[in-house]
Amino acid sequence: MATTKYIFVTGGVSSSLGKGIIAASLAKLLQARGYRVTIQKLDPYINVDPGTLNPYEHGECYVTDDGAETDLDLGHYERFLNVKTSQANNVTTGRIYQSVIEKERRGEFLGKTVQVIPHITNEIKERIQILGNTGDYDIVITEIGGTVGDIESLPYIESVRQLKWELGPYNTLFVHLTLIPYLSAAGELKTKPTQHSVKTLMESGIQADILVCRTEHELSEDLRAKLALFCNVEKNAVIQSIDASTIYDVPNLMLEEGLDRVALRKLQLDDTQEPNLVQWNQFLLRHKNPKGKVTIGLIGKYVELQDSYKSILESFIHAGASNELSVEVIPIHSEHIDAANIENELKGLDGILVAPGFGERGIEGKIEAVRYAREHNLPFLGVCLGMQMAVIEFARNILKLDGANSTEMDIHTTHPVIDLMEDQKHITNKGGTMRLGSWRCDLKQGSIVSKTYGEASIMERHRHRYEYNNAYRQQLEAAGLIATGTNPETGLVEIVEIPSHPWFVGVQYHPEYKSTVANPHPLFVGFVAAAYQHAKKQRQFVAS
Ligand code: GLN
Repeated sequence: MATTKYIFVTGGVSSSLGKGIIAASLAKLLQARGYRVTIQKLDPYINVDPGTLNPYEHGECYVTDDGAETDLDLGHYERFLNVKTSQANNVTTGRIYQSVIEKERRGEFLGKTVQVIPHITNEIKERIQILGNTGDYDIVITEIGGTVGDIESLPYIESVRQLKWELGPYNTLFVHLTLIPYLSAAGELKTKPTQHSVKTLMESGIQADILVCRTEHELSEDLRAKLALFCNVEKNAVIQSIDASTIYDVPNLMLEEGLDRVALRKLQLDDTQEPNLVQWNQFLLRHKNPKGKVTIGLIGKYVELQDSYKSILESFIHAGASNELSVEVIPIHSEHIDAANIENELKGLDGILVAPGFGERGIEGKIEAVRYAREHNLPFLGVCLGMQMAVIEFARNILKLDGANSTEMDIHTTHPVIDLMEDQKHITNKGGTMRLGSWRCDLKQGSIVSKTYGEASIMERHRHRYEYNNAYRQQLEAAGLIATGTNPETGLVEIVEIPSHPWFVGVQYHPEYKSTVANPHPLFVGFVAAAYQHAKKQRQFVAS
């Protein structure tokens, strides 16, 4: 039986160096050479999953088909590889401890003292090997969150040190990502922080096999030689990762540097088949040579932090390339919009996306933005909370149901057009209890969505507690807000549209989680195309 090879990616010197992108790029290259690859993220924080984290903390919470609420790096993995991830691809310290403590309570440790070594480390090693043991992958890349030297990542580092010996020679590989800072006063790139970081890793018993060096300037041959000498790695295993204009350039940059080749050689895997990046490069070509432009307003309340809407922003890049258009996304804070300034805030946009979110803050601005899009025939896409806002706006302004709201925002509203499902009403735990993961949705024939998807039934990912209230469906539909997507088992409304509007779609699910480079999401592709039609019309109008 072929053994799975494990590549561990650690980070040093600084956080936010882009370990996820490096891991995804290496995986892409290995996949393009014919290997079956997946990526896993180990997160050292104590939350059981990032579902309970405010987006300001770690950015968006990414949701997989199996309903796992995960780190946003899993989004990069899926977007790069076009391979589904699952709960097994994201492990946190909280989950590790939860599982060890549950085992202890069941008496599984037979009276032993439960300790970090071996109990926590065993649990971590097991979790790392779950994906490899499925037999579905030749290579598993495991990204260890945080920075080496952090107290909380120590058990992970210790676990992979043990695994190296247990799995035997050529079955594991350590890639260490560091920063080579440029000191402008000295006019020099500095290697010392990297030397220290490699040393810190060695104190835990791990010798980096490959160094990936983030840098703003080219690394000279001398500097590479110096890094190799001081850090105990081969010179061709010193890989430069220079700032790129788009993350989608990184696989090609890593290919030029030979990252995949060095990795394969060190794992004693065949490197004769050159990577096939034809489709990837076609995407890049279209992305970099747009034939036109659209401007989309992203109405949200976490707009200060780009990572909060990561998957949405990436979906626009895929959809832009697919349409050969550049998509400029303008983040607009929903708390700063009101009826008085809306015209000023939103004028000149070719489309409006109202973003997902939780809680009351900023919702009146979102409702105003929906109204503007509806009244100005501006292409509109409402995602999750954005769809709920579209229903509320329609109920208030067309049906004249004063005070219509979601019971999430106003528990006593006289018109709960968005409400909790019965089976959600008794849930008190916040973590992992929403309607999560992949659900079926049947599309109404002739609707925008049925044309856009080109299918009668779809599967999309959800993450929400509140739902369209079917008690208002008849009234809403009679007045022109049509339910064009429903869940066949529960009858829940998943999509609303206004057929008299050029392109007005609200979806209760999150299409952004399923958009990849290889498969741009049809809804985003359709929305961008509609925005372009709108832009062209506007230009003709101005010209005439
Ligand atoms: N807060 C809303 C709900 O729980 C919407 C969630 C979201 O936008 N992801 O239903």
